[in-house]
Amino acid sequence: MSILDGLNPAQRQAAQSTSGPLLILAGAGSGKTRVLTYRIAHLVCELGLPPWNLLAVTFTNKAAGEMRSRVEALVGEAAKNLWIGTFHAICARLLRQSAEAFGLDRNFTIYDEEDRRALMRRILEELRIPERDLAPRAAIAQISRAKNAMIDPALFAQEAGFQRQTIAQVYAAYEVELRRNHAFDFDDLIAEPVRQLQRHPEVLARYQERFHHVLVDEYQDTNRPQYLLASMLAAGHRNLCVVGDDDQSIYQFRGADLRNILDFERDYPDAKVVRLEQNYRSTARILQAANAVIGHNHNRKGKELWTQGPEGESLHLVECADDRGEARFVVQTITRLVRLEGLAPGQVAVLYRTNAQSRALEEELQRSGLPYIIVGSTRFYERKEVKDALAYLRLLANPADDLSLLRIINMPRRGIGDTALSHLQLFAQQQQLGLSAALNQLAEVPELNPRSRKAMEEFAGLINRLGKSKTALDLPALGQEVLEESGYLDMLQEDNSPEAEARRENLEQLLAFMNEFSQEQEEPTLEAFLEVIALMAPDDGVGQPPGRQDAVSLMTLHSAKGLEFPAVLLCGMEENLFPTSRAVEEEKSQRNGQAIEEERRLFYVGITRAERFLWLTCARQRFTYGSLVEATPSRFLAEIPPQLLELEQHGPRPAPHRQAKEQFKATPPTRKSFSEAPAPKKVGIHYVPEPEAEFAESVEGEGFLAVGSWVLHPSWGRGKILACDGEGAQHRLSIRFGTQVKRVMVAYAQLEPG
Ligand code: ATP
Ligand code: MG
Repeated sequence: MSILDGLNPAQRQAAQSTSGPLLILAGAGSGKTRVLTYRIAHLVCELGLPPWNLLAVTFTNKAAGEMRSRVEALVGEAAKNLWIGTFHAICARLLRQSAEAFGLDRNFTIYDEEDRRALMRRILEELRIPERDLAPRAAIAQISRAKNAMIDPALFAQEAGFQRQTIAQVYAAYEVELRRNHAFDFDDLIAEPVRQLQRHPEVLARYQERFHHVLVDEYQDTNRPQYLLASMLAAGHRNLCVVGDDDQSIYQFRGADLRNILDFERDYPDAKVVRLEQNYRSTARILQAANAVIGHNHNRKGKELWTQGPEGESLHLVECADDRGEARFVVQTITRLVRLEGLAPGQVAVLYRTNAQSRALEEELQRSGLPYIIVGSTRFYERKEVKDALAYLRLLANPADDLSLLRIINMPRRGIGDTALSHLQLFAQQQQLGLSAALNQLAEVPELNPRSRKAMEEFAGLINRLGKSKTALDLPALGQEVLEESGYLDMLQEDNSPEAEARRENLEQLLAFMNEFSQEQEEPTLEAFLEVIALMAPDDGVGQPPGRQDAVSLMTLHSAKGLEFPAVLLCGMEENLFPTSRAVEEEKSQRNGQAIEEERRLFYVGITRAERFLWLTCARQRFTYGSLVEATPSRFLAEIPPQLLELEQHGPRPAPHRQAKEQFKATPPTRKSFSEAPAPKKVGIHYVPEPEAEFAESVEGEGFLAVGSWVLHPSWGRGKILACDGEGAQHRLSIRFGTQVKRVMVAYAQLEPG
């Protein structure tokens, strides 16, 4: 018996080729990630390699988490010593570990998109560059591109022509500010270790010696710094195993370089190449659709996936009246999957091209009471109150973080106005001090009026006190202390508005997350916590507020890479949305279909996430930039062979079909599964029943749901029923869980007597 028994011969060969460079080039769902995982288990358990000699890089924290738990299931506790994570997470770890050798501050801060925009706005202001000459967003995009091409400010200035000298100047100032704040942005997080390791060969040599094996998943989406990092770290033992799929390269717009995978054989002439073509994930119909779609791309190596699995259900294409109707249809379909197919909400994913599409879906899901999470959304952590709380914590971890200090010095209000602040900033600048240090020398800033001086002294006192608490208290207690001592909770308490209550709830969730974190982690330090949060963006699902394990996942197609779900609903299949208008325009103006091909690969990624059920939806009208716009179906839909698709329409029924409605009413709802249900017409209009009709059966009459009783909710725990309304499928309860009141739909909430 070997661990590798769970692999087919081609996969086994890949997992067993443990010496020298190895490229696994294979289609979606063919077991690439599985091979990586089994290979790690084989190396550790069967060949006796110590786990710390391994480095495995994945694309999202979610994928890393899944890989770690798969390995843990095979090798147990030893998996804790593995370095598995996203490029960003691995790099943050490497930077902290070797900070001293690199001459860096260990307690650096990681800046997210909002921080980076705030910093950029300040720099543009300081350099007196008006927004019409250079928008912060544009400046950031150009700098990001430069960083991903490993071009530093000096080189940038050299290469930039006359017109781009302004950007060069901004880039240089931006870098100085980052360093002064002891901060890295997301691009730096990868480029900086590469630069440092190039500068410190002795440190590099230690890592090279340590990592006997380096494994990289989703290699087709690595950019230049990522490519350099992986090859540098693997150079010692040359056991570099990369896996990828050229058809799933979806980050070229962000600097991912497909050549990294296509040229692997050139970079490593002795590389073994393994191809896998058997798909284990999807039904034959889903695969045929995926193969047909990707077949329309010219720029690819070419491969066909096949499966021994069942033919499966037809794919469904549903046209809805507008985006609201689409959201209603999506929710209705999920409810049917849960009720009729016995799927758990967590087995369903709703995918879309742009984040903006999530709003309508979210609203409809909220109404239904179905549990859901938005994967990859940093929204929770982007909320003002959460960012404020984190700014306090970040300042405690890294006193040089001026950006965080500026965020909270007058939040809640302490009477520190802009003028006083500018005196402080000027003084700090002249003395070349950080703002925290300047705050402790207020006596030397005569311009301050007595009131501001006092307010600043109090703020400095607060930060110093909290700094002491940082060493004395554990993480959740520190969080609580920060919110109380800073006056933040008082400020919210005094405000009776529903918004303030929602803010308090969010802060409670943050504290709950800190609690959970400190129970799960071996070393739950403040720094570790901040790092996990910082690295959650941009494509991630880990670290959502707790209590949402079995929930429908909502995410962009980009975030779905590498994942799989029994049922997938892919929304917004419309021209100018998917493919995006940018891609459509580019094709028209430059007559090159590269952007369209990338969109098509993204569609291929979307289709291949589905195991059994796939719904594609589009709307005839969609709210875009504040107005309702006519939409045309996506060109990609026509690329799916029609015999695989069942067409449906959803929404207001046109008159001639009234009869069908009457008929539907007359038939009592059944609990038949989709597969048992009589097959609807192959092509043509098939009306989707309204949810009310379908779930007419009532859940009433169960005594434990009376007002005043206690119940148990799978995510929110024990709660007391305060009120009830509606009946049947609309039966809703208001329940108090702890300090929060939630409205739940009885039909889906899985309540038990508590
Ligand atoms: P993607 O390109 O989407 O990242 P992948 O090639 O990484 O896909 P995996 O996620 O590793 O594919 O595998 C897809 C599914 O097929 C998983 O559920 C996996 O467990 C299963 N699978 C792969 N190989 C086998 C096998 N030999 N026997 C049984 N199940 C398998
Ligand atoms: Mg994979």
